[in-house]
Amino acid sequence: DINLPNADKNIYGNSRLNSPIEMTDLLPNHSNQPHLTRSTRGNGVLRIPQYSLSQIKFLEELGEGAFGKVYKGALKKSGDTQFIAVKALKENASAKTKADFRREIDLISELNHDNIVCIVGVALSEEPLCMLFEFMARGDLHEFLMGRAPPSGKGLPPMRLLNIAHNIASGMQYLASHHYVHRDLAARNCLVSDDFVVKISDFGLSRDIYSSDYYRVQSKSLLPVRWMPPESILYGKFTTESDIWSYGVVLWEIYSYGLQPYYGYSNQEVISMVRSGEFLAAPSACPLPMYELMRDCWKHTPHRRPSFEDIVNRIQEWIQMGGCSDVGPSESSSNISAYRTT
Ligand code: ADP
Repeated sequence: DINLPNADKNIYGNSRLNSPIEMTDLLPNHSNQPHLTRSTRGNGVLRIPQYSLSQIKFLEELGEGAFGKVYKGALKKSGDTQFIAVKALKENASAKTKADFRREIDLISELNHDNIVCIVGVALSEEPLCMLFEFMARGDLHEFLMGRAPPSGKGLPPMRLLNIAHNIASGMQYLASHHYVHRDLAARNCLVSDDFVVKISDFGLSRDIYSSDYYRVQSKSLLPVRWMPPESILYGKFTTESDIWSYGVVLWEIYSYGLQPYYGYSNQEVISMVRSGEFLAAPSACPLPMYELMRDCWKHTPHRRPSFEDIVNRIQEWIQMGGCSDVGPSESSSNISAYRTT
């Protein structure tokens, strides 16, 4: 009963087109756990403000997440009102989903960084159980980029693109330094604030809305194969180095304004391409140094990829220099989304 999302016809990869194909590949499945995992244990103490539902005004629906609906809300506290995003656990949630929900609260409440979406509180005393997040007014990064894609959109200034890349690398550097492995870093899992700060989000198992980005293996979990390095595809190995590969793919998404990586190729074809060392081509008008950084993130041997610290420093230098302006090689402006290395 495998229902494999097929992205052939949608270069942005958010279609709901599903076409059943036979599963022949050998991905071991290590992905039943939430995909933000921590390799060392925290002290398990929850230090997070608790609110009652009466303090929350539900304003509008923002989307559907793994646990249920996500709403824009207004939180009333000590005479002040703050906009928030409310993740409400659906009423008929299974015991496992409830446990995942609480686990996500534990996990996120340990994180504190400018480029990680901040949980401002929880409402757990009555149903629906809710997580309350800072409100990110410009939505998810993938939608944000698509909305500005030339020629219909105006594009974004080079410095804005560099800042987005820097923000995500900083958040990931923080996660890596705390021994967290995200396992699902992608533009759809980053959010954009009103003042254009990008923060890493989605520590749950939200895979419905972008179903064509995921690949179901042996009828179990959906995997984001287009963001995964060979060692994750082949051996189910997820490490900081595999997050770095995914980060390279996020850079590609940023500079291609939200195209789906390897668009036009089926998930099965993508798996073969990644295994045989075929890379994404440079997005059109991508500065060459930026494409070189992507290629470094896609080194076959995990320890040869740059660290997030290296990446942050490299981008920081470009920002200080006023940009990295070389436009890539001429073939990079073609429509071919992947090419073979020699
Ligand atoms: P989950 O992680 O529970 O699966 P998501 O994070 O995917 O849920 O949320 C679903 C949608 O809600 C997202 O696509 C995004 O547009 C919106 N959303 C989530 N969190 C926020 C937030 N903090 N601010 C604004 N919008 C948000």
